[in-house]
Amino acid sequence: MIRGPRPPKGSWICYSEHIYQKVGHVQNFAVEYHFLETREIVRCKVYLARLRRRCLLSAEPTTEYCRTHRNHAGRPGSAMIDE
Ligand SMILES: [Zn+2]
Repeated sequence: MIRGPRPPKGSWICYSEHIYQKVGHVQNFAVEYHFLETREIVRCKVYLARLRRRCLLSAEPTTEYCRTHRNHAGRPGSAMIDE
């Protein structure tokens, strides 16, 4: 289960999610969750010049780019991609 504020589409840089794991049923209708971790979600660094906005996807863990754009990481001028 994931709890946390979902940013509106548009201008956001990062937000955090709280990850919980379902433990099991405690009583008839109650379910117990254990808190696991808070995850920082960072937005993909790529700027889509043609659309005049940054990529809306969140970056892959340990990278600054989303799944689509991670192959561009490390190249000069890679932050500006027009596609
Ligand atoms: Zn991206």
